[in-house]
Amino acid sequence: MAKYDAEQQDLERKLEELTEVLSEQKAPKINPEKFAELIKKYKNPQKLSREMVREIVDKIVVCQAEGTKPNRSQRIEIYFNFIGQYAPEYTEAERVEIQAKKERVAEEKNRQRHEYHREYNRKYARQKKEEAMAQNDGHLYPQKICPVCGKEFWPNVSYRKYCSEECSGQEKSKYYVAENEKRRQKRIAAIEEIPCKVCGKMFKPATKQINTCSEYCKRQNYLQGKKDWYERHKKKHPDKGAESELQVIMPLIPAARPEIAAGQAAV
Ligand SMILES: [Zn+2]
Ligand SMILES: [Zn+2]
Repeated sequence: MAKYDAEQQDLERKLEELTEVLSEQKAPKINPEKFAELIKKYKNPQKLSREMVREIVDKIVVCQAEGTKPNRSQRIEIYFNFIGQYAPEYTEAERVEIQAKKERVAEEKNRQRHEYHREYNRKYARQKKEEAMAQNDGHLYPQKICPVCGKEFWPNVSYRKYCSEECSGQEKSKYYVAENEKRRQKRIAAIEEIPCKVCGKMFKPATKQINTCSEYCKRQNYLQGKKDWYERHKKKHPDKGAESELQVIMPLIPAARPEIAAGQAAV
C-alpha cells in the first residue's frame, strides 16, 4: 500500500512539473518595457529589414479565408515579441472611415471592371467589323441578289432582302394580294348555298345582301321590282297613267321566274 502511495505522489509531482513547463511554453513572455525599447530602436524605419522583423514579430497567423467575392475576407493575426497579439483599437469615427474607404475601393474596382469589359467589347466589335469589311469588299454585309429584279446589291443591314423600296413594295403587295385572295376563298368556302331569287339556281352569295346568282338575274330582279311598283301604283291611282313605262319594262323580263312568267302572260 505504501508503495502504491509513493507511486501516486511521484506521478502527481511529475504532472505538476509538466503543467508548469507547458504553461511557460504557452504563455508568451510578456514584457512591455522591452517592446517599448524595440519600438524606440526602430523608430522611423527607412525600410523593413529581415532583422527588424525577426526582432519585433513573433509570428504571423494567416487564417482561413471566409465568404465569397466581393465580401471575401481573410483574417491575419500578428503576434509581436514581448506583447503578444496586438491590433490597434479603432474609434467609431475611424471605423466609419475605414468602412467608407472599403466601399470606395470596391466601387472603384467595380467601375474599372465595367470599363474593362466595355472596352473589350468595343474592341471585339471593331475587330469583327474590320474583318467583315475586309471580307466583303469594304461593306459590312455580304452581297445579295434581289429576288424581285435580280440585281446584285450590298445590304446596309443583315436582314435586308430587296435592293430598293420599289422591289420590297412589289413583294409586299404581292403578298397582300395573295393573303386577301386566301381570305376570300376561305370566306366563300364557309358560305352556304342559297337559291337565286330569279332563276332558282343554287349559288354562294358573296355577301348576305346578294340574292341573285348573276348580273343578269340581278338586273331581272330589279326590273321585276319596278314592275310590281307600277302595278301597285296603277291600282292606287287608276286615273294617273303609268301604262307606257310598264309597257317598256315588261318585254325585258324573261319567263325565268314562274310568277314573272305568269305576270307576263297576263299582260
Ligand atoms: Zn430589286
Ligand atoms: Zn339566277
